[in-house]
Amino acid sequence: MKQGFVYLVGAGPGDYGLISIKAIECIKQADTIVYDRLADDRLLDHARPNVELIYVGKASSDHTMRQEDINQLLVDKAQENKVVVRLKGGDPFVFGRGGEEALKLLKNNIKFEIVPGITSAISVPAYAGIPVTHRGIATSFAVITGHEDPTKAESNMKWDKLATAVDTLVFLMGVENLPHITRKLIEHGRPAETPAAVIRWGTKPEQEVLVTTVGQAAGDVAAKGLKPPAIFIVGQVVALRDKLAWFDNKPMFGKKVLVTRAREQASALTEGLAKLGADCIEAPAIKIMPPETYQPLDDAIAAIKEYDWLIFTSVNGVEHFFARLAAAKLDTRAIAAKVAAIGSQTASRLQSYGITADIVPAEFRAEGIIEMLEPHITAGMKVLIPRAVVARDILPEKLKGLGACVNVVPAYRTVTGDTDGQVLADKLTAGQIDLVTFTSSSTVTNLLHLLGANGAQLVAKAKIACIGPITAETCMNHGIKPDVIAEEYTIKGLVEAITTLFCD
Ligand code: SAH
Repeated sequence: MKQGFVYLVGAGPGDYGLISIKAIECIKQADTIVYDRLADDRLLDHARPNVELIYVGKASSDHTMRQEDINQLLVDKAQENKVVVRLKGGDPFVFGRGGEEALKLLKNNIKFEIVPGITSAISVPAYAGIPVTHRGIATSFAVITGHEDPTKAESNMKWDKLATAVDTLVFLMGVENLPHITRKLIEHGRPAETPAAVIRWGTKPEQEVLVTTVGQAAGDVAAKGLKPPAIFIVGQVVALRDKLAWFDNKPMFGKKVLVTRAREQASALTEGLAKLGADCIEAPAIKIMPPETYQPLDDAIAAIKEYDWLIFTSVNGVEHFFARLAAAKLDTRAIAAKVAAIGSQTASRLQSYGITADIVPAEFRAEGIIEMLEPHITAGMKVLIPRAVVARDILPEKLKGLGACVNVVPAYRTVTGDTDGQVLADKLTAGQIDLVTFTSSSTVTNLLHLLGANGAQLVAKAKIACIGPITAETCMNHGIKPDVIAEEYTIKGLVEAITTLFCD
């Protein structure tokens, strides 16, 4: 019989990438995940579809499950023979109460493992360009709770030793206690002019860094209204930030970008922009669905040998065509026709099915495509175009004009995405979106549909980036002027174009 087991797992400080391979393996296996205010929600995407998710962090009511109850929950779930992952920010043993949970499991004879995480104590300073040790400047560092109640008669903190014995001091959970912490440090001999920094939401696009001194920290934080979660770091190493700041120096750091692509296809764009430091908000304006019926596509596939040309106009067309080919228990070998792929991304997706397109028009306009196809098409040739239900009709008409017998079959359907238009409208109104990205005409029309009456005016409050001229034309038709249009009509091209917009 399967035995209950608990993994106490560190989820890292916030940046999605700062989690271990082992932690992800645990998340994948889990029957139950018990998590608090998490590093990144996307980590839960690794979980199995039927996983049980239990949130024990602060809810909107600011209510947190008591630690004893969390300990008991872990025991109960393990006793139901579940594989339980207890997912925590940073490292489970650095002010994470992982030790208490492990002791409780031990007491109940439940097997457990600890999966360490990257603690905020070291990584948050690193993202602010502050090394916790540095040759010639700091040979030691300490990680200290800043949470101690200042009204407590007997302090557990050895302030007299801490203040001066260690070069770099990193306080967690201390923002609200800064007046007390800094007073104690100064009282016990740390010079008031020692460099210090407060770093909020470190490693995330929202990261804020306040450089100050021990003497001025409390006042500066109050003046700026900095709230948790933040760390407070004290020591000469803070001065290195002047030279070593890297994360918040990225060209798009702090910029909020709307990604309107379908959810399944958003990641390449999001990752490309995140590398530039952007904070991407995935708000799918479209959703790719199967067509009302696959019958015409299935009929065409049944007669696939009769076709002289197959024309794919998009990656989605390729995906849906091959899915139906497989459903008919056929594969690439069934295709004898010549193949045209519009755009390099469509061609590369075909390549993944072992098909090298015979022609790849880089031009997306029907006129340009026809120009490339014309020498290859003779009267009576049969052409199959599996594509979106609603798509531009010029291409088949032009092909018919050349005497070809054209069959356009619906391979997929683009519908409006599930995004909440009102939330987006509010963000745009408040000027909280710096850039809107459009990767197809349908992202434009559907975003405007989601936004309602003043959609075009709202979108125009942000900068606009389009993947190519057709998408740009759709924008213009709706009264939206793109700020930049990719030269190469791919996600890579779009990211490059956006870079030029923000890097001058
Ligand atoms: N186990 C965690 C710490 C939990 S205590 C770890 O190893 O990182 C919670 C405190 O950690 C917060 O009050 C704050 O001081 C700090 N913290 C965690 N993540 C942070 C982040 N991304 N930016 C700044 N401080 C963070």
